Formats: sequence, C-alpha cells, structure tokens
Amino acid sequence: LMGKMMSQPLLISSIIQFADRHYGDNEIVSRRVEGDMHRYTYRDCHRRARQLANALAGLGVQMGERVATLAWCGYRHLEAYYAVSGSGAVLHTMNPRLFPEQIAYIANHAEDQYLLFDLTFLPLVEAIAPLCKSIKGYVMLCERDRMPAQSTLPNLLCYEELIAAAPDEYDWPLFDENSAASLCYTSGTTGNPKGALYSHRSTVLHSYGSAMPNALNVSAADTVLTVVPMFHVNAWGLPYSLLLSGAKIVFPGAALDGKSLYELFEAEQVTFSAGVPTVWLGLVNYVQQNKLRFSSFKRTVIGGSACSPAMMNTLMDDYGVQVVHAWGMTEMSPLGTACILQSKHLSLPLAQQRKILQKQGHAIYGVDMKIVGDDGQELPWDGKVFGDLLVKGPWVVAGYYKEDDNVLLDGWFPTGDVATIDPDGYMQITDRSKDVIKSGGEWIGTIDLENIAMSHPAVLQAACVGIAHPKWDERPLLVVVKRPGAEVSKEELLAFFEGKIAKWWTPDDVVFVDALPLGGTGKILKNKIRAQFKDYQLP
Ligand code: ADP
Repeated sequence: LMGKMMSQPLLISSIIQFADRHYGDNEIVSRRVEGDMHRYTYRDCHRRARQLANALAGLGVQMGERVATLAWCGYRHLEAYYAVSGSGAVLHTMNPRLFPEQIAYIANHAEDQYLLFDLTFLPLVEAIAPLCKSIKGYVMLCERDRMPAQSTLPNLLCYEELIAAAPDEYDWPLFDENSAASLCYTSGTTGNPKGALYSHRSTVLHSYGSAMPNALNVSAADTVLTVVPMFHVNAWGLPYSLLLSGAKIVFPGAALDGKSLYELFEAEQVTFSAGVPTVWLGLVNYVQQNKLRFSSFKRTVIGGSACSPAMMNTLMDDYGVQVVHAWGMTEMSPLGTACILQSKHLSLPLAQQRKILQKQGHAIYGVDMKIVGDDGQELPWDGKVFGDLLVKGPWVVAGYYKEDDNVLLDGWFPTGDVATIDPDGYMQITDRSKDVIKSGGEWIGTIDLENIAMSHPAVLQAACVGIAHPKWDERPLLVVVKRPGAEVSKEELLAFFEGKIAKWWTPDDVVFVDALPLGGTGKILKNKIRAQFKDYQLP
C-alpha cells in the first residue's frame, strides 16, 4: 500500500522559494571584498538568483554542466549557489588558498564551463586561465566600474552587467532529486584532490539534519555569521540551512582576522557562528588582548579540527559563549556529529559535563557510525577502545566524481579517522589514521597530547608528530608556538604532562617554532611538519 502524500522532489530551489515567500524581508549583510558593506533581503537574493539563472541559460550552460566559483562568503556567491544548482547545473566551489596548479587541476578535472570570481582573485584567475582547458568564459563578481581596463582573460564578463540584462522571471525547473547539485574537492593532503559530488536530495536532507537542535540549532531568532568559507564544504551547509531556518545572515567576505570579525559580530549583533579552531584562535586572542566582551554572541559550533579544551573553556567560562564541538568531512556534506548534552547529563558536575562536551559528539539522525578493528570487526562502545571510524547515510559519498573504484567497505565509508565511542553514543577522535604515532606496536593519539600542551598558559598552538626511532619505531615530538611574550622551557612543558597521561605517551622532545604550516582550510599540515623534522634526532 502506498502513502497518499504529495510527491515533491527535494530540490535546492525549493529552499530559496520558501525563504523568499515566508521570510522575504530577512536581511543578508555582506562585507564586500570591495571594502564596503552591502545589505539586502532574502527577496532580493531570490530575484537576482533568478536573473543569474536566466543569464546562465543565455550563456548556454546546460543541465549537469559545472560552473565554478572562486569567491569568499558574500551575497553574490549565495546567488550563484541557488542560480547554478537551482537551474540544474552543478556549482563547483574552488578553494582559492590552494596552489594555482591544484586549482587548475580540479577545474580541468571538473570540466568547468564558466568561472565566477571575486575581483581580488583577478591575478590568480589570469595565472591559471591558460591551464584551464574547458572554461569558456570568466565572470567577475562586481560592477562595471570595477572591471579592469584590460585583462589577459578570454571572454571576461561583468557580473552586474550580466544579470542586469537578464529578466527576473524564471520558473525553477523540476527534475530528479538525485541529480548532481554541487561539487567540492577534498584538499588532497595525499594524492590528487578527489571530488565529492553532492545531489539535491543529499543537500536538502543535510540542511534539515544540520539545522536541528542537536546540531547547529539555528532558527529565525538567530543572526548568523559564516566564519567557515563558502568554498569549504559549502560553508558546512549554512547557505542552505540558514535560509530554510529564516536566520539573519552576515557574510564576512575575506576579512577573517580577529579584529574584523569582532567588529562585525558587534555591529550586526551576531548570536551564532561556526568555523575552524584556527579562526577562533585569532578572534579570542584579539578579544583577550584588547579586553573586549561580546554583547550578543551566544553559541558557536567548532569543528574541522579538534577544538582544544583550552579554547572551549575560554569561550564558555570567560566569555559565556556555548561551544558545540562538531565533526565532519567533505565526504559527509560535511556534518556527522555534534556534541550536545543529554538531559541525564545535566545533573553531572561541571567538570564531567565538560569531559563529554570535549568529545566530537553524538551522531545526528541521517548519519550512522561504527568503529572497527584491523580485522574489520565492530568494536564495543565503551569509550576506551579505539578503532577506524566508518559512517553511512544519505549525505555520505558513495564514491568520488569520475572514479569507479569502490571506496566503501560493506556499504560503509571509511573516514580515515580513529575514534572511540562511549556507551551514550558520543564519539571522540583520537587521531587521523595517518597521524597516529605507533610506538612499540602501540598507538599514541596526538590530539590528546596537543590538547594538554595547549592547556599550558604559555602555549598558543601545538602539533605532535611521530619521529622515526630505532627502538620504538616512532616517538612523539611536540612542536610548539608560544603565546606572544610568554616563556616556557622544554623541561617545564614536559613536566606539565606528568599525571595527565600514561608516562610512555609523554613526548620525547619539544621544539619551539614561530608558526605552524597551515593548509587551505586553516588546518595544521602535519605532513609538512613530519617532512620538516624527518631527520630530527630525538634525545
Ligand atoms: P581535509 O582536511 O582533508 O581537506 P575535510 O575538511 O573534509 O578534509 O576534513 C575532514 C577531517 O577533518 C576529518 O576526517 C577529521 O580528521 C578532521 N576533523 C573534522 N572535524 C574534527 C574535529 N572536531 N576534531 C578532530 N578532527 C576533526
């Protein structure tokens, strides 16, 4: 017997139509790369997205063809999100922080037809254009008067001119909800980048799931600043989940330094934000150094790399900002888990609650997970045993774009992370499998060691890597960036580990450096650190 309900495909265009019709006056505020602020409404965004959809059709973009972007968080990028996917083409967001050759590689792999870019990326786009074989035209996201007098780019178009010439009547087409909607490449710290090809269905379901109270918990009462860039896994789905929630949106553009962010948080009275730990480090440092307070900021989701207990405690205890630790990956659209306490935890002492909150969290409906041992057998959820973390669900990749290899194990996607799961279902990442240190046949989790180091008042950032050792195979080396003006010796730091961890986990040595190498998404590049200290002699 079949249900007798309306059959309506889950399409991305339905989100902007809903947002316009039910929250049309809601504001979208953008700090533009041009330097000024721009404000308009959901309704304006929808109108201009329809114009862009018409313009793209005029350029001959067909269903399923890829249209790329190189742009920060901003209203024009949002218009592209809806116009490109909504019209049936595929939005390919590229990360401008990658090496130019890598960007050209993924543009060619995706066979992008057009590239939309922020005006600040003109030199980058001119540099890669000769390598990009499939791109027929380049659209600069600006007004006519900002266009360069001359450029080496073939077929360079002005975005505002392009859409001004297009009618704003457009009927969003209906098609199979399993059609491709957007494409995002993993940064490929090993090997070539691989494409996660999201569908309309996976995107809409992820938008629902990630907006829920057990995850991002965004609503029409929120003002949300997207710290995570729109080229990084679709800004964790916020460009969709915020519109379906009816939140006020604040886009920071390229200015992600502590001062710019703080000023925008205050000026727009931001209540919620989400981003990677490195950006929060910059913001918290700025606020601490200038003895500032947040007047509206209530809650933040931190993920992408481990949020250290030190950062969580500072935000929660000193600034009254609730921190929700979350975990996910490009292959998961990205959200997998978020850490929210259950009612039975609310009577626990604060320290015990914090211990739970520091984990990466609980699965949200739509994602299932398990840990397995080397033999592929599932391991118990006792919060102690760790194993390879596998996931499945309707917003998890089944394979990579243009690759036939089966990446699944019995229908589960191997995340490359090593984790424990406790009896209440809270998952904690101990490491990425390629970063785990193997000492004397046993594993040492580097995240624990880094978290302890970062809880020392003189430590700003820490990374732990395995160094080859004649007897133990590998031993941990701690690489540390000190806080400006702070002092600590190697001996003091090593003594700081005493009693906090099994003795044999204690790093063998500490090296102080000025900065740690960061990748395109603001994560510490452990492979670079390993390469740098390849021949390091441990004492
Ligand atoms: P990449 O870093 O390879 O470009 P992603 O941005 O998809 O790709 O990163 C996914 C990985 O980031 C996860 O597999 C995990 O190792 C790490 N990660 C994400 N969130 C967290 C977190 N909260 N704690 C620890 N590691 C995390």
